[in-house]
Amino acid sequence: NAKENDRGKFCIFSTGMNKRVFEYLWLDTHLRKALDLQQLVIDYQPKIDINGEVVSAEALVRWNSPERGLVPPESFIPYAEESGLIVPLGRWVLLNVLTQIADWQRRGISLRVAVNVSPRQLIDQRLYNDLKKALNDAQMTDCPLDIELTESCLIENEEQALALMQLFRQLGAQIHLDDFGTGYSSLSQLTRFPINAIKLDQSFIRGVNVQPVSQSLVRAIVAVARALDLCVIAEGIETVEEDKFVIANGVNIRQGFLHAKPMPAEALEHWLKHRR
Ligand code: C2E
Ligand code: MG
Ligand code: MG
Ligand code: MG
Repeated sequence: NAKENDRGKFCIFSTGMNKRVFEYLWLDTHLRKALDLQQLVIDYQPKIDINGEVVSAEALVRWNSPERGLVPPESFIPYAEESGLIVPLGRWVLLNVLTQIADWQRRGISLRVAVNVSPRQLIDQRLYNDLKKALNDAQMTDCPLDIELTESCLIENEEQALALMQLFRQLGAQIHLDDFGTGYSSLSQLTRFPINAIKLDQSFIRGVNVQPVSQSLVRAIVAVARALDLCVIAEGIETVEEDKFVIANGVNIRQGFLHAKPMPAEALEHWLKHRR
């Protein structure tokens, strides 16, 4: 309104672009603090093989903000990637996950954990050094981590990314290619990088039982993965029909709300104990 627009304070944030600037500035102060104030939390979402065994859980970060409540990662990870805050944030996630794994191991729960890693973290050798030290501190001889990378990780800083992936593999970590099929990587890149598994993006899984195009894509990707000896994981499975389709078509591991939603570590323990 015109009256407010006369006053600089009100009109600054009146356009879409300025809203984004405002959001950026808000995140810039608050997310940094959130990290220091331990306001970030990690949920875990199980992954299940075709025999129904839980093979791992994916760590998914959330922000428990006093002002905004539980903020999903999509609202702050892109900002963290742009600002560089993803490096300390990702480090926090990684170290927290390792502490959790060590705690589970002490109590007889052996579970791999998948961690999402952004391109920006992959050009930083410190990530590897931190991981190696943390494994040493926890007296773990094998690294029970699956590093989930997106295709953009393979394209930006190829050489450095490749070197770091090889180091992770030497520690015993696995490399998984997340959201597969949505990026710009070529099939040849699957052979050039030391990848263990590909994660079919949920856009191919949604309604796959009734979508001929998705069906063809899933079948084609599974065939390529087979030829390259890669494991195939399907994410975002919400219905029994989708689940049946992916199993019938050679997917090795399933993840989605049908099986379990992401949940806090204690809830996952309870879920593991009481599932049949
Ligand atoms: P992603 O790694 O592809 O994770 C899958 C997302 O799909 C998660 O959303 C998960 O909660 C959601 N999901 C799982 N099953 C289903 C389903 O059956 N139906 C539907 N509709 N959704 C399902 P979330 O937790 O909101 O995470 C979103 C994205 O944020 C992740 O996508 C990942 O790219 C990023 N992210 C989360 N945690 C981290 C982190 O610690 N570091 C980095 N760099 N990125 C993270
Ligand atoms: Mg992921
Ligand atoms: Mg994904
Ligand atoms: Mg995704």
